[in-house]
Amino acid sequence: NADMALYAAKAAGRNTYHFFQPAFAEQARQRLELELALRDAIERQELSLHYQTKVCARDQAAQGFEALLRWNRPRIGFVPPDSFVPVAEDCGLIGQIGAWVLSEACRQIARWEAAGHGWQKVAINVSARQLIHDDLVGMIREECRRHRISPSLLEVEVTESCIMSNPEQTTPILAALQAMGVRIAIDDFGTGHSSLAYLRRLPVDIIKIDKSFVREAMSDKPTAAIVKTIIGLSKTLEKQVVAEGVETAEQVDMLARQGCDSLQGYFFSRPLPAADIEHQWHAGPSASATGS
Ligand code: C2E
Ligand code: MG
Ligand code: MG
Ligand code: MG
Repeated sequence: NADMALYAAKAAGRNTYHFFQPAFAEQARQRLELELALRDAIERQELSLHYQTKVCARDQAAQGFEALLRWNRPRIGFVPPDSFVPVAEDCGLIGQIGAWVLSEACRQIARWEAAGHGWQKVAINVSARQLIHDDLVGMIREECRRHRISPSLLEVEVTESCIMSNPEQTTPILAALQAMGVRIAIDDFGTGHSSLAYLRRLPVDIIKIDKSFVREAMSDKPTAAIVKTIIGLSKTLEKQVVAEGVETAEQVDMLARQGCDSLQGYFFSRPLPAADIEHQWHAGPSASATGS
């Protein structure tokens, strides 16, 4: 209750009342508002997926897409996932939202396959809660069956910190997905403290170097060395390695020279609505892309 908070803050002293508590109450109010709006977002069809191309580092040919969640709030506009996915995780809505993302991605894969673009793989992002509490294996099997697509066209991205928060629980689930043909990527690699001993045994096909390393590698020698080491490590472990957040030609050169397999970032394309991706195919490979 905001009045109570203000009362308590007043009692605690003028300065806290003026500078700290109103901001705190306002933050709590905004968060509650966000949560309430998010509850209806699926029904009101305010959620959508944008797709960002992943390319081969050697010839820059498209290899597939990452599906990224977008929420278009009436009167407010697009809300970035970093500001609402954590709220959805906290208030128990991520299961429902994640199920929608999976279903929508499978529907899109089926549409693209029917249109003759069946080689396109699509990656979805999965939260720790979904991985641990939902029957992801059963859900993916069911959605692939319903849309008549092969699970091998689907990739699941899980952050390194999600896997490492509870490896005993997450590892067998990832292994079961892999056994079904789903490819597994470790997202934001380098930020989540996994030990080399674990990495060796993880049921993972793809390592995605976090964009913070890619950004700093051009100006910071130690970061460049880390990127080089992650690429070398991926080769040794026979995993595919992808760099995310690639924005410049210099980064493309450096990453390709060091043997990075795939690249993803604004340099190639921003995440785009499915219709814009299709438009690019019709316009030909030289069509340039802009978007969110
Ligand atoms: P992520 O999975 O690591 O996705 C990469 C983020 O980097 C995306 O932000 C993408 O738009 C952005 N990005 C791509 N290329 C560049 C670049 O060249 N430069 C920069 N600065 N950024 C680039 P986005 O779309 O805002 O998503 C943020 C995060 O939200 C994602 O990080 C992922 O963790 C989460 N997320 C997105 N969609 C979903 C979803 O469907 N479910 C769940 N659980 N999480 C999602
Ligand atoms: Mg991702
Ligand atoms: Mg990432
Ligand atoms: Mg991220």
